[in-house]
Amino acid sequence: MHEARTYKVQLGIASTRLKSAGIDRPGREARHLMQHVCAFSAADLINRESDLMPKAETEAFFDLVERRSLGEPYEYLTGEAWFYGLRLSCSPATLIPRPDSEVAVDEALARLPLGRLSKIADLGTGTGCLLIALLKHEPRLTGVGIDLSAAAIEVAQQNVDAHGLSERAEMRAIGWRDWDGWGETDLIISNPPYIRSDVIETLDDSVRAYEPHTALDGGISGLDAYREIIALAATGMKPGAWIVFEIGFDQGAEVRSLLESAGFSSISVACDTGQRDRVVSA
Ligand code: GLN
Repeated sequence: MHEARTYKVQLGIASTRLKSAGIDRPGREARHLMQHVCAFSAADLINRESDLMPKAETEAFFDLVERRSLGEPYEYLTGEAWFYGLRLSCSPATLIPRPDSEVAVDEALARLPLGRLSKIADLGTGTGCLLIALLKHEPRLTGVGIDLSAAAIEVAQQNVDAHGLSERAEMRAIGWRDWDGWGETDLIISNPPYIRSDVIETLDDSVRAYEPHTALDGGISGLDAYREIIALAATGMKPGAWIVFEIGFDQGAEVRSLLESAGFSSISVACDTGQRDRVVSA
C-alpha cells in the first residue's frame, strides 16, 4: 500500500527504487512508466506534477516499478517497443525487437529491385518487426510473416493492423517446414533462433528469464534453424531470389559456408553498429 502523494514525489520515490536496482536511467524510466500508467504525455506530467496521484494509478505504477526493479524488461511492462522508427506491440510471446536487427531490414532493402512488386516472407516473425519495417518503407512490397507461436502471430497481426498493412501482409501461425510459399517469394528474411543451447543459461537475466526460449535456442550448434531454412530454400526458392539472415556475431563464417554448400551465390556479411557480424545475405 502506498501513501497518497503528488506525482512528483511518487516519481522521486520510484527513481530511487529503480536506481538502487541498478537500472541505467532510473529517472527517465520512472517518468515513462508513469506516463504509460496515467496515459500522460510528457507535457501532461509536467503540468500535473503537484497534483495528488490517485490511489489506483499509484498502485499500478509501483507494481510496474517493482517488476522493473526485479529485472523484467521495460518493453514487456509497457507492451511496446520501437523498431525502425515504428511503434510496435510486443509481449512475452515475442522477442523484443532489437536495434541490431535493423541491419537486416537495410540489407533486404538494398537487394530488392526498386519499383517492382516483390513478395517477402519473414520466417519466425515474432512481433512482425522485420516484415512491417520493409512494407512500411517500400509501398510496392507485399509479404507473409510466419511463426510457430500462435500467441506471437496475434501480436504480429495487431502490429500489421496498427500500421495499416492488412491488405499487404498476411500473418500465419505455421512453421517453415509446413509453409509452402517458397516458390513465389522474392526475398526471405529471418531472425531465427540462433543461440547455442548451452549458452542460453549464461545469457543476461533480463533475456534468459523473460524472453521466449523458442525464439532464442538454435540447438547444440546454434545453427539448426539456418540448416533447415537453407535446405528448404535451396530446393523450393525461385532462381534469383534473396535470403537475408540475422546471425550471431560469431556465426558469419559458418552460415556463409552452409549457404555456399547449398549452391547460393553473391554471399555477403554485414556488420551491426558495434562492428560485429550481424547479417548474411545470399
Ligand atoms: N539477438 C538476440 C540476443 O542476443 C538473439 C536473437 C535470436 O536468437 N534470434 O539475445
